[in-house]
Formats: sequence, C-alpha cells, structure tokens
Amino acid sequence: MDGTLICPACGAQYPEDDVVWRCRCGSYLDLKETFRPDPTNFQGNHFLQRYSSVLPLRNPKNAASFGENPTPLHPMVFYGIPVQVKMDYLLATGSFKDRGAAVMINKCRELGISHIVEDSSGNSASAVAAYSALTGIDAHIFMPEGNSSAKTIQVSTYGATLHKIPGNRTDCAMAAEEAAADSYYAAHIWNPYFLHGTKTVIYEIMEQMNWDAPGYIFIPVGSGTQLLGICLGLQEMKRAGLITKYPRLMAVQSEHCTPVKNFALGKVTPELPKTPILAEGIAIRHPARLSQILQAVKETGGDTVTVTDRDIVEGLQMAAHQGVFMEPTSASAVAALKQYGNRLSAVDRVVVPLTGHGLKASSRIQQIMGTQ
Ligand SMILES: *Cc1c(COP(=O)(O)O)cnc(C)c1O
Ligand SMILES: [Zn+2]
Repeated sequence: MDGTLICPACGAQYPEDDVVWRCRCGSYLDLKETFRPDPTNFQGNHFLQRYSSVLPLRNPKNAASFGENPTPLHPMVFYGIPVQVKMDYLLATGSFKDRGAAVMINKCRELGISHIVEDSSGNSASAVAAYSALTGIDAHIFMPEGNSSAKTIQVSTYGATLHKIPGNRTDCAMAAEEAAADSYYAAHIWNPYFLHGTKTVIYEIMEQMNWDAPGYIFIPVGSGTQLLGICLGLQEMKRAGLITKYPRLMAVQSEHCTPVKNFALGKVTPELPKTPILAEGIAIRHPARLSQILQAVKETGGDTVTVTDRDIVEGLQMAAHQGVFMEPTSASAVAALKQYGNRLSAVDRVVVPLTGHGLKASSRIQQIMGTQ
C-alpha cells in the first residue's frame, strides 16, 4: 500500500504520516493509490475483512469491527416500481456511516492518533463515536444545537464529548476546525479513508446482484460520502472489468437545500431555514466535495432530483406499511421515485440504499405523522 494523499486541485502530495486533513490550497485530498478488485480475494463476512484487498488499511486483520454480516438487499415496491433496498440502517449504530467510520477510525488507530474531532448532524457522529469507543480513541463531536435528540443521546452515551454549537452547520464546522488545531480533524466530509469505507456498500450490492449492475441508484446527498463512495467503487470495478456500464447515480436533495443542482446551474444556494429541516441528514449547504459530486453524477449518466417534505412523509409511510422504518432523510430517496414513476420499469433494476434507522428520529416522525 502506498498511502500517499494527493490534491485533485493543485496536485500537491502528502505522505500518509503527515496526517493532514486537507491540502494547503484548501481542497480536499484523495488517495493516490487506486485499487484493483479481484473477487477471488473477497473472503469473510464483515466488510472490513471481505473487501480488505481494496481498502487502504495496512493491517486489515487487526481492524476492529462489530462483525456484521452483509446487510440485506430487500425487494420493495414504491409507486408501482419494483426496487431493491439496501438495508444499511441495520449496521451497528443504525446508519450507513458505519462503513466510513470503520475505515477512518481504524486508519486513525494505525496512524497512532488518539484524539479526534468530528462535526456532524448526528449519524456520522454516532458512527465515529461508536468506533472510537471500540478502539479507545478520545472523540470530540461538534453538533449544531437542536438536531434530533436521539442522535445526540447516542453520541454522548458512547462516551464521546459533545460540543453543542449554536448556529448552523457552518458555525459547527468552524468550531470543530478550531478545536482540531491540536488534534486530528476526522471530518467525514473531507476524509478520503471515509469514502473507501462507504464504497464497500456497492461491493456488497454488486455481489448480491451477481455483478449485473443495476440501472439506477437513488441516493440522498448531503456531503456526498455515500454517493462518492459508490462512485469510487464502481470506477474500481469498471477498470477491473467486473462491470461494463455504470448505474445512473441519482443525487437526491431536499427542496430546502439543493447545492448540487445549484452548482450545476451556477447558482448560489440560499441560507437554510432557521429550524431543522425534515431531511436533516442532507441539509448541507456547502458540501466540501461539491464538484466531485456533480462529476460523479455526470460520469454515470445520472441526475439530480429535488424532493418536497410532503413526498418525503409519503415515502416514509409507504415504506413503513411494507414493514420498513427509516428516518425522514432516508425517505427522501424513496420520494424521488415518485417523479420517476412513469420513466422507470422493472427492467431498469432500481436500487435504493436505506441510510438511517427510523428509531433515530421517532419523535420527529411522531410530529410529522401525527401518530401517538
Ligand atoms: C449522512 C446521511 C445521509 C447523506 O450522506 P452524505 O454522505 O452526507 O451525502 C443520508 N441519510 C442519512 C440517514 C444520513 O445520516
Ligand atoms: Zn491542493
């Protein structure tokens, strides 16, 4: 393993041991090394073990994990469209962010880092806090005041130190960066290791689909770590000849926050409402990897989709009536299917990753559904 980090904007390179979280030019960093998947190397059940040959860990055998099996790919129907949902909310902390945190935190451990700072609206903080607890790393989490209390409780119960910041995500990120001056800023939105973790979902999906790529994947996009991880995995598979064409990556955003579409149109994204929006997990006004997200959508022939709160509630309910309880942010991807109802059919083979567990947001769900 090489381990060198490279800046896609200015080309600067940094050895792994420098533990920098972004380039001196301000851009995010990626890994220089590219991985070549060979399915005969895929052994074991847990994603850290099974995909260790395509992960940037030096000692995958020693990696700490909760030993989960692959999450189910489960058939559902929305708006008459047959869909395979990837039940990633069943991972240990209740969201797909465990995949990213597992690789990022194990990398921190390999690099001898014992204190980290992260900022998040909840799920990545929970994942980082859990893996930090597992590996004995001291985690400081910066969160905006007023986010889902279940997530806040989860983070502090794992033993992470919680810093509640008044204001929005940007204020939160600034406070975290400041605090990271003498610690490691393990920010999932910047961190290249995190993306190599989130890419494991597409390896699982492709194995579950016998390497026959789906036509579409609808993905809720905030900072883009899920979409970019999926794109990274698909690029590796295509280069290795495991797939011949890309699924269209559909970037789903809330009507209250559409930076990907705005960026494509050259427009500025307006301020978010003061109160937390329904799809709180994708309320990211300035994704650090915005241009990379748009590039991934274009490269795969995908599109951006904007969904309303009303459709999110409908999608959430429709899923629950099929026995699947997800948080509103995840339901945005279901809501996006409504707009594609007459454009998609069974031959399109649609996949929707279900990103977060409904139990994380039950009080919010109670409010929006008027349930008792
Ligand atoms: C974080 C999150 C997303 C969005 O993922 P990004 O990596 O920020 O694009 C979607 N759904 C849930 C439940 C999340 O926690
Ligand atoms: Zn640079």
